[in-house]
Amino acid sequence: MLRDMMANFELYQPTAIDHALNLMNRYGNDGWVLAGGQDSFDWFKDRAKKPKAVIDINGIDDLHGIRETADGIEIGALTTLTEIETSALIKEKYGVLADAARHVASPQIRNVGTIGGNVCQDTRCWYYRYGLDCYRAGGNTCYADTPEGIDREHCLFGADRCIAVSPSDTAPGL
Ligand SMILES: Cc1cc2nc3c(=O)[nH]c(=O)nc-3n(C[C@H](O)[C@H](O)[C@H](O)COP(=O)(O)OP(=O)(O)OC[C@H]3O[C@@H](n4cnc5c(N)ncnc54)[C@H](O)[C@@H]3O)c2cc1C
Ligand code: SF4
Repeated sequence: MLRDMMANFELYQPTAIDHALNLMNRYGNDGWVLAGGQDSFDWFKDRAKKPKAVIDINGIDDLHGIRETADGIEIGALTTLTEIETSALIKEKYGVLADAARHVASPQIRNVGTIGGNVCQDTRCWYYRYGLDCYRAGGNTCYADTPEGIDREHCLFGADRCIAVSPSDTAPGL
């Protein structure tokens, strides 16, 4: 299944939120938001997802950074996991989030992977990732929820339909 070659797409690199939103509206389900790419490129290289347009939001300055506010902090969606892990403010006030970020993958992935992408990343279920037509993909069966299913990425046994969970380490911290 692994083809390691992405299908063609139109690439957009907006520098303002309004422009990105317009592009997302224009392309709908045929568009794909790209942040650090650490989940997206897996999908594209496996050719399990073939968006017509990729909207790379990395040039939008307003979405970067950590700011203290009157009632807490604001973390821009493009803030990298490394920035969260090393932020003095987050370490001091929200240590569990800094710890969670530090546990994600490897330093290289944390250097480019963003908090927005980490929370929005898709499930790691083998069947779904390789493009099978399971419930989550719009089909009518769950290949993982059988006695023979490869289910080591799962933990909702006994649930109805999809038993996949989010693999995000930062989500529980948030
Ligand atoms: C080898 C490997 C090991 C990994 N191990 C772990 C791990 O231990 N723990 C863990 O939690 N994760 C792990 N991951 C996942 C990785 O941390 C996430 O894929 C990464 O943080 C995603 O961030 P990104 O910016 O690269 O996302 P992208 O790939 O750019 O985006 C991921 C998804 O989120 C959407 N998206 C991104 N930003 C936005 C936004 N601002 N608004 C709306 N939608 C958005 C994209 O459209 C896409 O669907 C691993 C990944 C790899 C490749
Ligand atoms: S757990 Fe089942 S329905 Fe959910 S993604 Fe995996 S195969 Fe599909």
